[in-house]
Amino acid sequence: MKAEIVAIGSELVNGQKLDTNSQWLSRRLGDLGIPVHFVTAVGDDLGENVAVLRGAVERADLVLVGGGLGPTQDDLTREALAAVAGVPLVEDSGSLRAIAELFARRHRAMAERNRVQALLPRGSEPLPNRVGTAPGIWMRVGGAWVGCLPGVPNELKIMVDEQVVPRLRGLGWGGRVLVHRTINLFGKGESEIEAEALDLTARGRVPEVGITAHDATISFRIAAAGADEEEALRALEPTAALIYRRFGALIVGEGSEDVAEALVRGLAGARASLATAESCTGGLIAHRITAIAGVSPVYPGGIVSYAATAKTALLGVPPGLIEAHGVVSAEVAKAMAAGVRQRFDADIGLGVTGIAGPDGGSPETPIGLVYLGLATAEGTQTRRLELGPEQPRDVIQGRAAKHAMNWVRLSLLRTAGRNPDG
Ligand code: ATP
Ligand code: MG
Repeated sequence: MKAEIVAIGSELVNGQKLDTNSQWLSRRLGDLGIPVHFVTAVGDDLGENVAVLRGAVERADLVLVGGGLGPTQDDLTREALAAVAGVPLVEDSGSLRAIAELFARRHRAMAERNRVQALLPRGSEPLPNRVGTAPGIWMRVGGAWVGCLPGVPNELKIMVDEQVVPRLRGLGWGGRVLVHRTINLFGKGESEIEAEALDLTARGRVPEVGITAHDATISFRIAAAGADEEEALRALEPTAALIYRRFGALIVGEGSEDVAEALVRGLAGARASLATAESCTGGLIAHRITAIAGVSPVYPGGIVSYAATAKTALLGVPPGLIEAHGVVSAEVAKAMAAGVRQRFDADIGLGVTGIAGPDGGSPETPIGLVYLGLATAEGTQTRRLELGPEQPRDVIQGRAAKHAMNWVRLSLLRTAGRNPDG
């Protein structure tokens, strides 16, 4: 069972409009357990539409076509489908009546051009459209079923749910439920993680596991099908458990959860509070933490100390220390962490100082060099990150924030490992 999607409209191929219908259709079919193998966008050109549709009906069992059903000259889906099927267009009296009634309800005169919307390839079935003028088309062409839908996104969605899905079920398709689970990891590169997961991501594995990367967070997406949701979720479980066993501390959460959520969970679990002192990340860590609701018990606050004078005035970093080691140094990161921990009376202080570029790099402090400082009751530690120098400023800032939060998260895990009931 293979499905294929064709999006028709010149606005979709010339960059004016994003083809959101195809994304929606792919997901909807995916949820029904029907895999989509091709998505094609093509402009309003009869010959090209015919070529794309011909290829699609040869390859797929189901072809869903969006757009080109309007009344204007550039709406060519009807003609293209008739050409591919090798049949003439004939007027469908039921569809013509439905179009006339829609205009009557809106107290508008029906233009002669709207008549063409009632033309359907001989042997096809109209798909009633209760929200727009043009009916859709349902037709068997060669070995494939073809469903043509209007391009207007809300019309397309309604017609898929009300007209296409019941027909698919009638054909015995889409009876299975497909579910997904996404497990997110941070702290290792995509290729490194993939190398440790070749058995999971192997083609043809059931359930299927995909790997993607976004903002240095690596995600495993497990997909499984079942007769109902419960059965499908059960089928996911052993694979999820395997990922948890194998990747342990690298896992930061599921779904949309990332490092910040994992850090906040870790702080709450340890009943520990964190205060942040940020230089090159400019408050990004504070922002990511406070984007999560209910963090005030574990996050009293932070300081953005961008200039050297602010580090001294607000965090008590000695001017002599800055002069001796430079503002981007392990010593300053450490002093920032200790200073903010003390000022907020927090259990943990985090300091971040680095150079995000694009200017100001030097051989000793290249762009992307970031020092982290972590202060706890047990003392202070530092870490050096090299994130650049080829990366743009926002990427360096984002990565520095993530690595810093992840470092605190891992230190909480280590502490929890030492005092299992703490
Ligand atoms: P109708 O049959 O409802 O008259 P149509 O089938 O001819 O419409 P178009 O006129 O091509 O469809 O498109 C109608 C609207 O829907 C336009 O605003 C168009 O940009 C938008 N649209 C068409 N296809 C897509 C798509 N794949 N993704 C997002 N928007 C789309
Ligand atoms: Mg169009």
